[in-house]
Parts: sequence; structure tokens; C-alpha cells
Amino acid sequence: MSEVLEKYDVVIGLEIHAQCNTVSKMFCACDNDSFGKEPNINVCPICMGFPGMLPAVNEEAVKKGVKTALALGCSIPKMSKFDRKNYFYPDLPKAYQISQYDEPLAVEGEVEIEIGGEVDEHGNVAGPPEYRTIGIERLHLEEDAGKLTHVSTGTLCDYNRSSTPLMEIVSKPDMFSVREASAYAQEMQKIIRYIGSSSADMEKGMMRFDINVSLKPKGREELGTKVEIKNVNSFRSLERVLEYEIERQSALLDEGKADEIVQETRGWDDERGTTESQRTKEGASDYRYFPEPDLPPLIMDEAVVEKLKSELPELPVTKKKRFMNEYGLNFEYATLLVSDPNLAEFFEQTLERSESVPKKVASMIINILSALLEESRISILDSKVTPEILASVLSMVEKGEISNGSAKEVIEEIFQNGGDPEKIVEEKGLEQVSDTGFIEDLCKKVLEANPDAVEDIKAGKDRAFGFLVGQVMKESKGQANPGMVTKVICEIIE
Ligand SMILES: [Zn+2]
Repeated sequence: MSEVLEKYDVVIGLEIHAQCNTVSKMFCACDNDSFGKEPNINVCPICMGFPGMLPAVNEEAVKKGVKTALALGCSIPKMSKFDRKNYFYPDLPKAYQISQYDEPLAVEGEVEIEIGGEVDEHGNVAGPPEYRTIGIERLHLEEDAGKLTHVSTGTLCDYNRSSTPLMEIVSKPDMFSVREASAYAQEMQKIIRYIGSSSADMEKGMMRFDINVSLKPKGREELGTKVEIKNVNSFRSLERVLEYEIERQSALLDEGKADEIVQETRGWDDERGTTESQRTKEGASDYRYFPEPDLPPLIMDEAVVEKLKSELPELPVTKKKRFMNEYGLNFEYATLLVSDPNLAEFFEQTLERSESVPKKVASMIINILSALLEESRISILDSKVTPEILASVLSMVEKGEISNGSAKEVIEEIFQNGGDPEKIVEEKGLEQVSDTGFIEDLCKKVLEANPDAVEDIKAGKDRAFGFLVGQVMKESKGQANPGMVTKVICEIIE
């Protein structure tokens, strides 16, 4: 790959399809949630394309589309319209898809993405993150097609998905490596989830990519012939598609067969790891676009757009930078907290109620709570451990009332069964003992039993010190205040 990149510039653009998580479908009142349901039960004459039926635009889908577009810095034209994109395929009962052609919902935006900074596949830290801005050409709304399943006796059609609202987000050809394209795709998933316009769950087909990729001799202005690979449905596949296509196209260019790279649509075969030509790319004229006669143009109310703008959340890249600058968190902690907007919110809410330093709050959430959430596969929103509870556990640690180990035990207990932290500490006898007399007695006992370790310390071997503190902690069943134990041992030895 690196040899290829010395000779050629790679230019990549992505079209992202994300299903809006609205209650009903794009143009009818059918239930928009068909996951795991029996085929062809969420259908009606409108989404099945029966003659004479009239579609109506789903307002919620429009709002979600506008909000997503605003987050991507797009401008929202006063007017947009729907068009018919005509083609015949069994997954499309109407034989046309209602989409937006020359007057889309939103245009001209840009999005900041973060590249690298994380640990690479070999476990090496790939250095500090870089930031890049990727242009967004447009965001438009359309309806999804049905789903085809090919079996030995023929093809089965399920129209539950037919007319699910889709946002299509088209980037500019602004990505120049597999890494950038992958980072952009992942950032878009995060942004869409922050906005809440789609679950963007790729395993359920809620987010898919069409990839445009072309190569040109290094430094040449004019773009090479672009090839489109449709319906890629995982980040891993996105990377594999690009790696394969870049190799394929560069090999043809190396052999002087540039004319064999044609503008076409190719399909990705995940098992074989190859792309296959499906059809030479249709021009827009092949779709015979014309304005949808059953839907009036969409006129945007400025007040609605302003309201949606005011509701925009802080985006993940901005939030991560703020967590590092404002709270002094390291990249790893900030990345983990920001990966889920609810987790980030939980962190800040706990911080607000706590006297602990941000790093300690973050550590408690990441090392204890996140592990529990992951194990039980529940959302932080459904956790019995609330920001109030976590703050009060942290406060007990700060005051020296319980040890870090006991804090973990309390959090685990509340996570499973709920309850009040102070009561649990009392019931389980987890109070940290700061009684000087009790700790002195324990220390004396441990020092007498370990004369060798005492000699080692006197000879300057510090490791023995940790051993002795550990022994006292063990004797106290973890309840002695470790700070006091350290102090008392020092005093006795001196
Ligand atoms: Zn319907």
C-alpha cells in the first residue's frame, strides 16, 4: 500500500445512508420499527405503492434531517422538494423511489474529524490525534427500499423496510487515505448518535456506505475515473473495500491500462474480499428524475430551523477536546467518556455534585461502572448507580471513611440491587478504621512478625515497606486507613 501511495493520490468520497429513528415511515403512518418482526406486516397501500394513494411527508423525519444537517454545518435552503427517481427493481414496489434530486434539504457543510491518537492494530500508540475538516456536499431525505432475500427457489421480498426514512449524507471528495475515510465514517456515526436522529446500528443495516474512490498520478490536478462501491455495512468492510480497490486500480494504472478503470458500480463480496462489477454507472438521466407531483415543495420555517439549532448538542470532537483542556483528562479517558453521550453527561453530572478531582471521577466511572455496564449490557441511563450515588461514594473515599476497594464493593452492590451507599457501608462493615490505637497495635504485631522486612527497610530497601503496609491492610481486612498505616509504620521504625 505504501508503494502505491508514493505513486498515486487516492481521492475518496462517501455517501452515508442513515435510517431516521422516527415513529412512523417517511410518507405513511406505518410503524417504522420492523426489526425482528414478521415480513410484510408493517405495510400499507402508500408504502406498497398502490395506484391512487397519496404520500404525506413525515415532519419528524424532516426535523431530524435538518438537525443532523445543522450539526454538520450545512445551510438549509428556504425551499426543497421531493422527486421521483425511476428504476425497476423488485425491492421497490412503486418502481420509483421518492428522493430529493436538485433541491435537497441541506447543502454545503463541513465536519471536523479526529484521525489517529488511538492505539493501532499492533498495540502501538499512533501518536497524538490529528484533526481534519471534511466538506459535506448535501444532506437529503428519501425512502428506503424493501429487503430481498435470495433463496434456492427464488427471491423473497419483505416490504417492512419499504419507505423507512433515510438521510443521505454526501461528502465532498475530501478524503485521501483509508484511515481518513474510516475516521470520517466513525465520526459521522458518533455525530448522528449525539443528535439522536438515527441509532446508526450497522449490524441492523441502519447505517450503510456507498464509497467513491479514484486514483490519479501524484500531483496531477485532474481527478481519475471514480468507481462506486455500494451498500457497505461495517467499518471493517469499508477499510477492506478501499484497500482492495486502491490495489486493483493502481495495478491497472501500473500496467498502463487506465482505460480499464471505468465509471461503474461495483459490489463488495465480503467472503471473497473482492469487488465485482455490477453495472456501468447510470447517469442521472437514466433515472428520469422529475418532481414528485403528489408532494408540494417543502418550505422551511425559519423559526423551526432556529429552534433546532438551539437544541444542538456539543459534538463529540469538541467535547473530547474540552474534557482534555477543562478537566485535564488524558486522551484515553476523554475518548472513553465521549464515546457515549450519556456517559459523558453522567460524568459531568457526577463532577458537579462531587468534591473529587475530575480524573478520580472519570477513573471511577471507567474502571468500575463501565465494566459493570458492559458485563450486563445495559445503558448508563438504566443504571441504579446515579450521579448522586457515585458522588456520595466518592465523598466517602475523600473523607477517608472507606477505601477504594470498598468503594468498588459498594458500587457493585448498588448496581445489582440498588440501595443507599451509607447504609451499605454500615451493613457490610466497610468503614475504614482510623482509630490510632487499633492501627498501632496491628502495625506492632506485623513488624514483630517480620523482622527481616524491618531490617531491609533500615538498609534502604523501600520495597519491603509496601510489603509491610500490605500485611497490615490484610490483617485489618482492608479496613485500616492506608495513609495512617504508612505513617505509623514510619514512626515505629524510626
Ligand atoms: Zn405504509
